[in-house]
Amino acid sequence: MSTVQGRLRIAVQKSGRLSERSLDLVRDAGLRVVKGNNDLLYRVENYPIDLLRVRDDDIPTFVADGVCDLGIVGENVLEEGRNGGPVAEVVMPLGFGRCTLKIAVPPTLAYDGPASLEGLRVATSYPRVLRRYLEAEGVQADIVTMRGAVEVAPRLKLASAICDLVSTGATLEANGLAAKETVLESQAVLVRSPVAPEPGLQPLLDSIIERMAGVVSSQG
Ligand code: ATP
Ligand code: ZN
Repeated sequence: MSTVQGRLRIAVQKSGRLSERSLDLVRDAGLRVVKGNNDLLYRVENYPIDLLRVRDDDIPTFVADGVCDLGIVGENVLEEGRNGGPVAEVVMPLGFGRCTLKIAVPPTLAYDGPASLEGLRVATSYPRVLRRYLEAEGVQADIVTMRGAVEVAPRLKLASAICDLVSTGATLEANGLAAKETVLESQAVLVRSPVAPEPGLQPLLDSIIERMAGVVSSQG
């Protein structure tokens, strides 16, 4: 018999668009989640597992480095986190948190395909993903990185176009912008660490993944 020393860790978004559905998935997989002494860590009472509740941006690194064994994060955040270092491996798409990273422009910009962005400034919160897209399109443009409120950049003359996440399109419309190109289709994914879990925990990790897969496929 192997001795179980540690606990598995699953990284989930603390508060935001993925939080509820992430917790639902964990619970539906049979994990009884209870709040711990602090906000950062929730405990699972029926298995040696903890949920680490963090900003979604931190999840790819935590999982890539083995600080967490599993994580639930948007593909958009995962792609933006790629930096040539170790990567969190995608186990499966989860069917929620769907959104699209799109290039959008104001009506004053004559737009006729990505080449129209040549030499212009494009504002985004996803500079790496946008950079790769523009390179693939053979377009040279300046990227202005903004943490939020990207949609106001054209009005403030900070940029000629934007590259932002869209789900309904209401925000673009409210800001008088029209979506032109799809840069990335995204949804939440389950990711796993390339680093092995602590001794004895591999079978539990495998069974959690299997049960989550069962939950996701039953939701079809
Ligand atoms: P955090 O505080 O964790 O950094 P955040 O503000 O970066 O939160 P949220 O707005 O909660 O992130 O979005 C989390 C994820 O939800 C996004 O990265 C994306 O994968 C997904 N998502 C789904 N629909 C949308 C949308 N309309 N706008 C933005 N993100 C969306
Ligand atoms: Zn974030």
